[in-house]
Amino acid sequence: MWIVPEREIAGLMTREAAFGAVEKVFAAMAAGDAYNFPVVREAIGHADALYGFKGGFDRAGQVLGLKAGGYWPNNLATHKIINHQSTVFLFDPDTGRPAAMVGGNLLTALRTAAASSVSIRHLARKDAKVIGMVGAGHQATFQLRAALEQRAFEKVIGWNLHPEMLPNIEKVAAEAGLPFEAVSLDGLRAADVIITITSSFAPSLMADHVSPGTHLACMGTDTKGKQEVEAALLARATVFADEIAQSVGIGEAQHAVAQGLIAEADIVELGAAINGTHPGRVSDDQITLFDGTGVGLQDLAVASAVVQLAIDKGIAIEVDV
Ligand code: NAD
Repeated sequence: MWIVPEREIAGLMTREAAFGAVEKVFAAMAAGDAYNFPVVREAIGHADALYGFKGGFDRAGQVLGLKAGGYWPNNLATHKIINHQSTVFLFDPDTGRPAAMVGGNLLTALRTAAASSVSIRHLARKDAKVIGMVGAGHQATFQLRAALEQRAFEKVIGWNLHPEMLPNIEKVAAEAGLPFEAVSLDGLRAADVIITITSSFAPSLMADHVSPGTHLACMGTDTKGKQEVEAALLARATVFADEIAQSVGIGEAQHAVAQGLIAEADIVELGAAINGTHPGRVSDDQITLFDGTGVGLQDLAVASAVVQLAIDKGIAIEVDV
């Protein structure tokens, strides 16, 4: 079995490799060649932690395994380590033997960024020039960096409930040589692509803050009760998801479906647009919205890619089990 420690991931995994792995596994999911197992998430009654497992099997890529981990809210203050902690375990699908153990913290950020990036590649207008950010926390910087590679963007605009955090994304824009403007929610009408990545439980972005032709990647809502955008926006949009069951259960679509504004059958797997079995965007004034809830197969895909990179570079540690 191979071990790839967390400390090695930054030097191994590229945004390009994460993009390729996530795009491929979304396509395999839509083709019926890969599926996620039911998610387990438990408040364990110790250290205020939420702990769980996200697993799956990608028959096309021959990747089997799970990500174990969760959220320890006191880690930073008490142990000086980040609150989100996860590890990916891969198994040989032919024998069930353990194949790899991989640090999952940075990989989670990269696979989440890759997901919105894949949605932009396949659904945003080709002439998109302005990208708008709702959210400016840890994950926002990853989402923006990956998104900027997908179109010839000329400007970044952003809104955040806590404006003092906006310099986080301004820095990413500056790295890419792009101007940044802090805007009101109304100002987001200037955006051709919008990424929402907040931990909000009430909508910030309303349907009339979004112009026709916009592509949205809604990435923050990954739990029951969370919500970033007005449910009416989903009724105005063609809605895509990484996994439809998760989108309806814990994603942004949970609210629009519960309110009867859209039906589960209206949601399209992003993989169908990748595979060409769904046309994706069909007009320049259509609003497309990707509900990215984060699936286990994304974690397995990037972990599998990084194990190969680590073996090729002689960095992976081999142990007998
Ligand atoms: P963070 O704590 O670094 O940032 C939180 C962001 O949410 C900040 O921009 C903050 O200003 C904003 N925010 C907080 N409360 C808000 C409110 N009430 N209304 C509007 N905005 C508010 O967190 P992060 O690591 O950047 O993660 C952001 C979200 O993304 C979390 O909800 C996390 O669970 C989710 N996430 C989703 C996936 C996925 O695959 N879909 C993966 C990783 C993280």
